[in-house]
Formats: sequence, structure tokens, C-alpha cells
Amino acid sequence: MLGVAAVAGAAVVAGVFDPDAAGWWFGALVGLAVVAMGAYDARARLRSAPATRPFAELEGPVLWTVAVWIAMRLAGAHGAHLTPLAAALLAFLVATFPRHVWGFSVGVAAVLEVGLTAAGRQDLTALALHCVLFTAVAFALTRLVEVESWRERFNRAREDDQKARADEARARDFGLQTAQAPIIRQLPSAHDGRHTIGRMTLDYLSASFEMQLDLLRDALGLTTAAVLWKDAEGTLLQLRGVSSTRDDLVDGPYPVGGGLPGSVLRDVREVAVAPVHHGFGGLPYYPDAQGVGGAVAVAIQATGDGDRPGEGAVVGVLCVDRAADGRWTDAERRVLRVAARKLALDVATGQRLKATDHERSTVRRFCVGLQELNGALGLEQVAEAALQAVAALVPVDLSALSVIEGDLHRVVRASGHDAERYQDLQFTADEGLVGRAIKVRHALPVGGAYKGGRPVFTAGDRLADMRSLLVLPLLKDPEDPQGEPLGALIVAARDEGVLGAPHEVMLALIAGQVAVKLDLARAHEQIREMATMDSMTGLSNHRAFQETFDQMLLRTARRDGKMVMILADIDHFKRLNDNYGHPFGDEVLKGVARVLGTAVRKIDLAARYGGEEFALLLEDADEEGGALLAERIRAEVEALTFTHEKGPVGVTLSLGLSTYPHDGQEKAELIENADQALYTAKHGGRNQVVTFSHVAASVPVQTNAT
Ligand code: GH3
Ligand code: MG
Ligand code: MG
Repeated sequence: MLGVAAVAGAAVVAGVFDPDAAGWWFGALVGLAVVAMGAYDARARLRSAPATRPFAELEGPVLWTVAVWIAMRLAGAHGAHLTPLAAALLAFLVATFPRHVWGFSVGVAAVLEVGLTAAGRQDLTALALHCVLFTAVAFALTRLVEVESWRERFNRAREDDQKARADEARARDFGLQTAQAPIIRQLPSAHDGRHTIGRMTLDYLSASFEMQLDLLRDALGLTTAAVLWKDAEGTLLQLRGVSSTRDDLVDGPYPVGGGLPGSVLRDVREVAVAPVHHGFGGLPYYPDAQGVGGAVAVAIQATGDGDRPGEGAVVGVLCVDRAADGRWTDAERRVLRVAARKLALDVATGQRLKATDHERSTVRRFCVGLQELNGALGLEQVAEAALQAVAALVPVDLSALSVIEGDLHRVVRASGHDAERYQDLQFTADEGLVGRAIKVRHALPVGGAYKGGRPVFTAGDRLADMRSLLVLPLLKDPEDPQGEPLGALIVAARDEGVLGAPHEVMLALIAGQVAVKLDLARAHEQIREMATMDSMTGLSNHRAFQETFDQMLLRTARRDGKMVMILADIDHFKRLNDNYGHPFGDEVLKGVARVLGTAVRKIDLAARYGGEEFALLLEDADEEGGALLAERIRAEVEALTFTHEKGPVGVTLSLGLSTYPHDGQEKAELIENADQALYTAKHGGRNQVVTFSHVAASVPVQTNAT
């Protein structure tokens, strides 16, 4: 056929079909062949009997194309009137055939056009006109085809969405979906949710219902066997499974009250009618009362292992009917009762499976959360890990951790909705639920239900959007009624019923862990402090002095700065001990230490160097500033009076001072030189400040010498 098309195409170009051309008989032969073959091919296609030859799919379109061009040539001067016919054919080919098929025909048309022009049978304007026209038609149509496929895609997406919604409703009706376990909602698409327990259970239920209903219908000669299921609100009945010979069923949902299902749902557990009276309307899924001879409705009652609430409640109805109007036998009714029990058991098993799966994943998330918590060290880290553990456990919208610092509570960390508002918030115990929960030492509000009205932290803040809330006190020892409270864990969610009893138990476990960690963090902090602090005076100890000196020197050297080191020693302390006793000496020591501790800035260090000697490190200070401070300390100590039963006692202090880098580059050198200056001060008469630079110049400067 392609050969015939080629010959005919060549004939078109050669002008065989032009009016007044010689050899018209040849033209007629070829033309007839083309038309006959084109028609034959079209007929085969209409009958969907496609030929199996290679290129067979190209044949028809090419023959039709050539035929149209033959017609245009035959029309002669009026050929232009037939141009729309060519355009229409082109449009038809583009819209109907795959790209390579219509592409081939368009290629043939192009060859004919170019050939005609080259042979001088058509001028360039005509060629250009044809080209523009045909291209425009083809382009517009390909666009349309694309638009069509877009519409298809859109429809498919909408169907997927509807299916997901329907699945969700089904899962909810079967009790497979709760606020605590919205697994199906998280995986809405049938494609990626196929392997979750929820999805598998749903698919299993559909298949099982269908099989059982088919079986019943065959065995009992039924017209329709249907499962009507109460929706989650209990206000409507949904058609959740059906097997029927009729195709005019009404899909539902149906109101709960009417017909046979209505009586079964009310109190009668089973209704059988046969023969039915004329115009029987007891089956909600039939549009009319035609063809029903007898019908039975059996209650489907919730079943389980005996410890579930709602056990025995009617959750659905199994409805069957048949055209025969003979009485239902006891055996038939027993079969229907057993089938109803089996349907209920299927759903109960599904619920169990889903619950087990949910419990397992909850326990896993819980363990992971606790592990994070165990690894946390500082306060911030503990708070962060605690909130993460909470988020892994419950669908929470706001969570926070507050600790007690002295008289105030402070939110160490808040996360979720409006978290910035609460971060670092300080509040007192008597304003909101946090203080209250800590006071009564158990979680509030009871049951985790919240109306959004009661203040949580301060009197001014209410979590208006939240419907679930738990404030769990963090107690150092929950068993001890006098045990110290450490803070509170606050968990809130927008949905109702999220923080019920099962979650409270686990959140309480987390709160217990957090309390232990907070207590540990505090103890850790105390141990660290003790290791660096002198217990009698509260100043840094000798070791901390050495370490701080190293660090301060390094920092100072790096930025070419200056720093001062001061050594101080109480004058005639031995004598004081001897006169007033060692315990009194201790009091004096503490008094002097207080002066030193308050005299220095935060960045400086005051340490008990040993015995009744002290050391000061002044960062970013020069000799002049250091000497001024030393002098102030000397004067303040001199002004102190200690009361002893023998009368008021005073004390004086000698101080030696060295400066980095002027008096030394190394720590040892600076200490040695400060000591040298102190020695000079002692020998110069005590109660004075001496700088090493003056010692080196052998001109000890004496202030207020006695
Ligand atoms: P000076 O420094 O002026 O030369 O005379 P001093 O009597 O203070 O002499 P020195 O510094 O050598 O004496 C240190 C005395 O301080 C010896 C010791 O009994 C006493 N001392 C050291 N540590 C303590 C302490 O923790 N408590 C009391 N009460 N006395 C201490
Ligand atoms: Mg001493
Ligand atoms: Mg002394």
C-alpha cells in the first residue's frame, strides 16, 4: 500500500492529475487504487482489525493524505477551495493518531507540496500559505491534546484525593484511627501507604467483607447482601460492603433510624420478614420496593477480648434480601448470625493489629526519646532533649520546660506554636497552672482536657487555641511529699483528647527522667564549684588561681595587653590568733576575704593563696590602676572592726604588686616578684602597698606607713 501511495505521490508531482494532462487513464487507475485502498484500510480500522504487516499503521493515513492531494490537483483552479479539506484531514490525523503516524503523513504532504512547487505547478505564495495554515492547525491541535492530558491528570489527582478521604472515613468508622494514632492521615496516598498496618488492615477488611458477602449471596440465593456501618459520630449508616445482582443500589449514607436496620440498631438484634407486604421500603439501599420477597437484618456487635469499652454495642447491620418470599429457615438465620459475628471479629482484629502496631511504635519512640535525654548534660541540653522526647511521643503543638531559680520560675526552653512568647519568660508560683501543679505535686489539668481559659505561666497568658494540656511537675523525689520541686514540663495540643491517661503515664516518666537530669546537672555544677572554691572564704582556691593565671596570661599576651598580680598577707596574724583564739582568727580571715571578693571586677580573680595570704589577678589593668585598687583594699581592711569579748579588734594588710609584661613575662616570675614586693612591704613596716618596679628601683614607695 505504501508503494501505491508512493507511485500516486509521484504522479501528483508529475502533474498526472492536473486538468488537461495527458495519460488521464493512468491517473484514473492510480487514483482509483488509492481511494480503494484508503477506504479498505479505514474499514479495517473501524472494525478494529488492524493489519500485522510492518508499517501497517502508517498506510491508511498516508493513502488518505495522497487522496486529498489528488483531489486538489483534479479540482484545478478551484483546488484552493479544497485546502480546508487538507487542513481538516491533518487535524483529524494529529488528534487521533500517535505522533510518529501523523508525523509521517505530514512529512509526505510536505514532500508533495515542495515537489509541486519545484515542478513549477504551484507558486511560492501558495506553498507558503499552505505551510502556514497546516502548521497552525497541527500546532493548535497538539496543544489541545496536551490540555486534554492535563485535564486527565487533574481528574486523577482529584480521584486519588477522594479515595484517600473515603479510606480515612472508612478507617475512622472501623475504629482504626484515633486522635492519638492518625497514621492513615499521615499517609494519605494509596501508593506510599500500601505497606502500613493501617492500610493493610483496611484492604484486608474490604476483601474479607466482599468475599463473605459473595459467599452468603451464593449460598442463600440472595439478591443483595450488604454491610451497613455506623459512622464515627453514630448519626449515619455507611454502605461498607455489598454484593448484589442489582446495579441500581443507592450508595448512601443513610439515616440511622429507618427501615429494618433502624429497628436492629434500636433494640431488636435481628429482624426477618417473608413474605414482605406490598411496597416494602425497609432496605435503604434500594431506590424502590420492587423485587423484594423476603429480607433479614442482623446486628453486628462489637467484639473483642472482653476488656474493651463498648463491647457488645451495635456498630453495624448485615442486611440481606431475596426475590423468593418463602420463610427464612432457622439454618439460614444461623448462617447470617455467624456471618455477622465474623464481620465484627474481622474489624476487632484489625483494631487490635493497629493498636499493637501503634503501641510498638510509641514504645520505640519513647525509648529513643529517653536515650537522647540520657545523653544530655547541661540544663539547655536536658531541656532540648526533653521537648524532643515529648514531640516524638505525642502530636504536640506547644511544649515548654520551666525551672525554679530561687523565688522565680523561668522557661528554659519553649518549642512550637508561639514558642518565642514563652522562651525565657519569668513568673511566680502563684499565677498559673505551673505553680499550682508544682504545689499539688501532680499533673494538671486532670485528664489533660483544657478549655483555653486558665492561665498557664503568668496571670496574663492563656493558651486559647489549645484543647489538650498537661502541666507535669518536676519533682526531685516524687515519693517524698516534702521533696524539692525543680520545675515543670508543659505539653499542649490543639486537638482534643490527645493527652489522655496513656500518654500522661509516659509523659510522667519523661518528667521523672528530666527531674533526675536537672538534679544531676545542679549537683554537677556544685561539684565543679567546690573543686575551684575555697570553702572557708568563698574565694577561688589555689588551684583555680593557678589555672586562671595561665589562661589570663595567654589572653593578655595574645592581644599585647597588660595585667596585674597582687599578693596580700595579713599582718601579725599569728599574734591575733594567739590573743583571741583560732576561731576568732577565722572570722577575721573571712572578713578580709569579703573585702577582697567585692573589690575586684567580674573579669578579675580573688583567691585564697594559702593560710592568711591572698592573691588577686586583674585583667586589662596597668600598674597605676592595680596600685590604686590595692590601696583601696588596704584602706578598707584597715577600717574593719571585729568584735571580741575583750573589745574591738582591727587588722591590717600588706600588699605586693607585679605587672605584666613590665615585671615579668612568666607566671612564676610574676608571682616571685609580687612576693618580693610583699616582703618589702612587710619590712617597710606592714599595712602598705609596694609595687615591684619600686623594689627594683630600690625606692620602696610607702603609703600610710605606721
Ligand atoms: P606577718 O605576716 O605580718 O609577718 O606576721 P604573721 O604573724 O601573719 O606571719 P605569717 O604570715 O607567717 O603567719 C601565718 C599565720 O597564720 C600562721 C597560722 O597560724 C595562721 N593561719 C594560717 N591559716 C590560718 C587559718 O586558716 N585560720 C587561722 N585562724 N589562722 C591561720
Ligand atoms: Mg603569711
Ligand atoms: Mg601574715
